[in-house]
Amino acid sequence: MSNLEFIHANWSAPKNVRAVMSLRKGGISKPPYANLNLACHVGDNLFAVAGNLDLLREALMLDLGYQWLDQVHSADVIEIESASAKIKADGLITREPRNACCVLTADCLPVMFANKEGTEVAVAHAGWRGLQAGILKNTIAKMTSDPNDIMAWMGPAIGPCHYEVGIEVKESFRASAATQEELNLVESSFAESDLEGKFYMNLYLLARRQLLAMGVSSVSGGDHCTHCEEDKFYSYRRDGKTGRMASIIFFQEAF
Ligand SMILES: [Zn+2]
Repeated sequence: MSNLEFIHANWSAPKNVRAVMSLRKGGISKPPYANLNLACHVGDNLFAVAGNLDLLREALMLDLGYQWLDQVHSADVIEIESASAKIKADGLITREPRNACCVLTADCLPVMFANKEGTEVAVAHAGWRGLQAGILKNTIAKMTSDPNDIMAWMGPAIGPCHYEVGIEVKESFRASAATQEELNLVESSFAESDLEGKFYMNLYLLARRQLLAMGVSSVSGGDHCTHCEEDKFYSYRRDGKTGRMASIIFFQEAF
């Protein structure tokens, strides 16, 4: 049995819902992917990735169907009844037990969702492009639960301390803002950097406010920086060629 460590969602979802993010410790990948890389598309040895996926399955100790995505920074969200081959999308929803909805990240923001009954869960891969395109809005719209019955948890992503972006990123959010309130949110989510035309973007603030504006009952998490915490997380911005962590959510039949 493997005993991998995970980051556990700190939220008030029912006990039959499990939401975790893997860390980089405990796997068999060699540098620059050391150690628990779970992505096949980043140049790592595929036997090592397969071994790491086995460790993940052992650690979660359950007979789960794992649904993985071919993530393309879109706003596409797919509902699944059972796990199958990779799907090209950036969000997953299920209302069936033991379907593990998974996204891979190394700086982008993973957002998990659960309803209060523990009968519907979702995960979204939210980098700036996904947030701008409406991935969170689409996830909420496609879930059958009322937003008031949905809670969200933001997993580890790159923090505002390190996420420097060009002015074009801020401008694209400004251009798609429909109300003064949304414009104000853009202003508060981008802090000026010392470099001209550069800003530090706060993914957590933007995502939290988007979710609350849609009526989601509670939003927790958003308290890590993948770039700062090198011992725990992969960071694409920090290391370039590197591995990916998995954010995984599923529910079991309520007992
Ligand atoms: Zn940082």
